[in-house]
Amino acid sequence: MLALPVEHVDGAGFAFTTREGGVSRAPYDSLNLGSHVGDDPAAVAENRRRVAEAVGARDLVVAEQVHGTTVVEVTGPWPDVPPHADALVTRVPRLALGVLVADCTPVLLAAPGEGVVGVAHAGRKGMTDGVVPALVEAMRDLGATALLGRIGPSVCARCYEVPEALRAAVAAQVPLARSVTRHGTPSLDVAGGVLEQLAPHCWDVEQLPGCTVERDDLFSFRRDGVTGRSAGVVWLA
Ligand SMILES: [Zn+2]
Repeated sequence: MLALPVEHVDGAGFAFTTREGGVSRAPYDSLNLGSHVGDDPAAVAENRRRVAEAVGARDLVVAEQVHGTTVVEVTGPWPDVPPHADALVTRVPRLALGVLVADCTPVLLAAPGEGVVGVAHAGRKGMTDGVVPALVEAMRDLGATALLGRIGPSVCARCYEVPEALRAAVAAQVPLARSVTRHGTPSLDVAGGVLEQLAPHCWDVEQLPGCTVERDDLFSFRRDGVTGRSAGVVWLA
C-alpha cells in the first residue's frame, strides 16, 4: 500500500503526494495523478486508486483545472467527464478531493467541526483572480465558520522569475506576492500570496516547506516540461 504522510485534525485529513509510490513510467514516474499530460490512463487510474486507498477514502475526485475561479460542490464521483473547475468543496465523508499541481500552489481547507472540506488550484493567475477567496466563500455558504488551511509545496519565490510588469500587476492585487529571485530579479511568491488571502479567514494555516523546482521527488513543469502531476488531498473521515 502507498505510504503517504497524512495529517488528521478533528476528523479532517490532509495529504500531499510526491512522485513516489506509483506505476507510471518516465517521464511521469511514478505517482502521476494527471490524466491530461499524456500518461497511460490505466496507470493514472491505478495511481489515483492508490491515493484514495492510502487516505482511507472511497473515491478521489479531481476536476478539469483551467486556471479559473469556479468552485464546484461535489456529492460523489462524476459519472463521465469531470467539470471545469479550480476549486472543489464537499460535505460527504470519505470522498477525497484532489487538486493537481506541478509548480502551482495546492490549497486545502477544512472546517471539520462543521463537516466541510475544500481544495483550490492556485497558480499565478488563479491566485491573482481570487480562486482562494472564492473557495472560502463557497465553504462559508455550506456552513463552515472555523477554517483551517494547509498550503502544499509549489515553485518558490527564489525560482519563479517573471517580468517586472507582471510582478507589478499581480502585486497590485496581492501585495505579499511581490518578491525577488535568488539572482535579485523580479519574481512572484504565489504561496505567500495565498497565505495573505487565507490568514484573515483561518484560525490555523500552515505552509509546508519545499519547492517543486528544487526537489527531485516532486513534479515540476517549469523544470521538466512534459511531466506528471502531484496532488493535495483533503477529506472528511
Ligand atoms: Zn525554488
